[in-house]
Amino acid sequence: MTTAQTEIDPTSHIYSRISTPNPTRFEIILSSLLNGTAISYSSGLSALHAALTLLNPRHISVGEGYHGCHGVIALFTRLTGLQKLALDCPADQLEAGDVILLETPLNPKGTAYDIASFAQKAHSRGAYLIVDSTFAPPGLQDPFLWGADLVMHSGSKYFGGHSDVLCGVLATQNKEWSTQLFQDRVFLGSVMGNMESWLGVRSLRTLEVRVQRQCDNAAKLIQWLDTTLHSPNPVPGSDEAVVQGALGEVFHASLQDGGDWLKKQMPNGFGPVFSICMKEEELAKALPSKLHYFQHATSLGGVESLIEWRTLSDASVDRKLLRVSIGLENWEDLRNDFLQAFKSLCK
Ligand SMILES: *Cc1c(COP(=O)(O)O)cnc(C)c1O
Repeated sequence: MTTAQTEIDPTSHIYSRISTPNPTRFEIILSSLLNGTAISYSSGLSALHAALTLLNPRHISVGEGYHGCHGVIALFTRLTGLQKLALDCPADQLEAGDVILLETPLNPKGTAYDIASFAQKAHSRGAYLIVDSTFAPPGLQDPFLWGADLVMHSGSKYFGGHSDVLCGVLATQNKEWSTQLFQDRVFLGSVMGNMESWLGVRSLRTLEVRVQRQCDNAAKLIQWLDTTLHSPNPVPGSDEAVVQGALGEVFHASLQDGGDWLKKQMPNGFGPVFSICMKEEELAKALPSKLHYFQHATSLGGVESLIEWRTLSDASVDRKLLRVSIGLENWEDLRNDFLQAFKSLCK
């Protein structure tokens, strides 16, 4: 990696593409939350773009996950010949300087992966681990504890938290990398706007309580959905029968068989995003219009609950799948909303 010829003072504030007070403030707060130096970007995808510009790997081992990240990878493939490897590729396919990009919990299902085992795999080959931790903001998961080299967030989700900010964040504990990332951003030009960073600082004040409540709400709802779905011999017309008539499956880290690592890496909850699979495509398509508390929209992490028939933004997923992002509403209102929606679908 080339080191920068002239170091630019990150707090000089002489030109807005280099630095301005609001993004600097946002980054200082985030650095303490993320346990590494944080650099902010205009979007989550521009943060990934900056990470790949920094590391310029020959191979990237990556799973499914956020479709836009695959768009950024395709751009590098066009420019540099970057090749994709499967997330579960044998370690000896990785070379020094390569990257494993691990998104966990994973979009759209909210299931989690063992960060430590991927860090160990990367480092055994001299490769690096980038963790896209968007679904588990600080308080839920610290990827540095388990060996991540770079942590990435789409700050458009929980950091912003009010569906009104687009931003991305990289954090690293490597001083040389953070200096290079800062210098690169001057020329990538992907700085966060002033207004967005001001909104970002506002949002970070409530990050902890928002995420706790959202997690709590989601955990209760998921438990209700899952228990109701698996309740044996439901009486016709009962809530159990109604749910079982429409719902096929629920996906979330809290329902996965994760072993010891899961509870260690996510000690405070498993995140407010989960997915459901309906019994039929038609039911999945119709459900959002039957719900009153949930907006039918993409994105996630905001204070208001959202539901999305996921095939509309990602053609690669099951057409029966809906992604749910839980907000700050009373969880029983959300449960009752689901129940009345399932009832109206069964008519
Ligand atoms: C939204 C998202 C991104 C992309 O972030 P933008 O801010 O929309 O560019 C990347 N990864 C994950 C997991 C996301 O949910």
